[in-house]
Amino acid sequence: MNDLTGLYIHVPFCRRKCVYCDFYSVVGKDDIFDEYVKAVVRNIRIAGGKYDTVYFGGGTPSLLSGRQINDILSAADIAEGAEISAEINPDSADIQKLRDFREAGINRISIGIQSLDDSELSVLGRLHSSKQAADAIISAQKAGFDNISADLMLGLPYQRTETVMQNIGRLSELGVRHISAYMLKIESGTPLSQNRELISNIADEELSADMYLEAVSCLEKHGYEQYEISNFAKDGYECRHNLKYWRCEDYLGIGPSAHSCTGGRRFAVPKDIYGFINSEKQEAVITDDAPCGISERLMLALRLSEGFLLSQAGEYADRLKAVAVPMEKHGLLKISGGRIMLTPTGFLVSNEIICRLSEVLEEG
Ligand code: SF4
Repeated sequence: MNDLTGLYIHVPFCRRKCVYCDFYSVVGKDDIFDEYVKAVVRNIRIAGGKYDTVYFGGGTPSLLSGRQINDILSAADIAEGAEISAEINPDSADIQKLRDFREAGINRISIGIQSLDDSELSVLGRLHSSKQAADAIISAQKAGFDNISADLMLGLPYQRTETVMQNIGRLSELGVRHISAYMLKIESGTPLSQNRELISNIADEELSADMYLEAVSCLEKHGYEQYEISNFAKDGYECRHNLKYWRCEDYLGIGPSAHSCTGGRRFAVPKDIYGFINSEKQEAVITDDAPCGISERLMLALRLSEGFLLSQAGEYADRLKAVAVPMEKHGLLKISGGRIMLTPTGFLVSNEIICRLSEVLEEG
């Protein structure tokens, strides 16, 4: 493990499942929160290491108390100046909870807002209203948070592009520093995937593409610079933890369904809360024993606006560039400063571009 790495903690509890969500979480298990926290603490101590980013994701980390967050953070060796993020949901984060989180050491909050339109929130099965979402931002500021991120979803059933623009404008007015704008994905096995009416009212490919490009330009107008396909930030507010994933840096995941890339391998913890709680040390299923090869680095780097450094491709650099030049002419990417960087139009077809460029490496 490197000296400084990232620590991800998966908090697998929710109040209710949202219709589109396939993240691992269980509902109605408040009685096992303390046992879960003990298991997280145990695993942090076993792993050792020193962390310059910590990220509580879920699930719904804001269901935990400030004391439980504090217990977990106290077990980790955290570098000075570390970014310590927690995802929160507006329906489970009142001002006292936010103050407690701040006191426990959280210094970045990512709020699962998704939309500031009540009808869109109800289609998604979210428990909060648009007012609660705005109130959560204001409460977070009152609790002392400056580094606040909001999640927005694009391509929802019945969604209009104007609503997305209004949502972005409102988040900007409220002073959020970072926005993650994700296109809705229909995950198999979710209630949404079985709801024909909703699915037939999801934006088609052309409308989704327009919505994405308009959102990118609206975000830029409001001072949010795109640094990844779905992530936008005011200057200096990029998420340092998530950047580790895309830059192929080490991170350790703790909790059921958490993934890790550390010690030269990728591994995943089984999606089993009781297995996690009852094991002395979390089970680690190896998913890749040679991660961060050149193809993977290319694929991850092209998600970022900073793009892929051609010199990393060694002997393949010239051939990669030759394949990229026609795409540059079509406005899909830029080649500059020894890097290949996708444009917003390129991000829309990133899978196809990455496939085409990866073939060069495979042909080698
Ligand atoms: S979207 Fe978030 S709150 Fe909703 S079920 Fe998934 S993890 Fe829980």
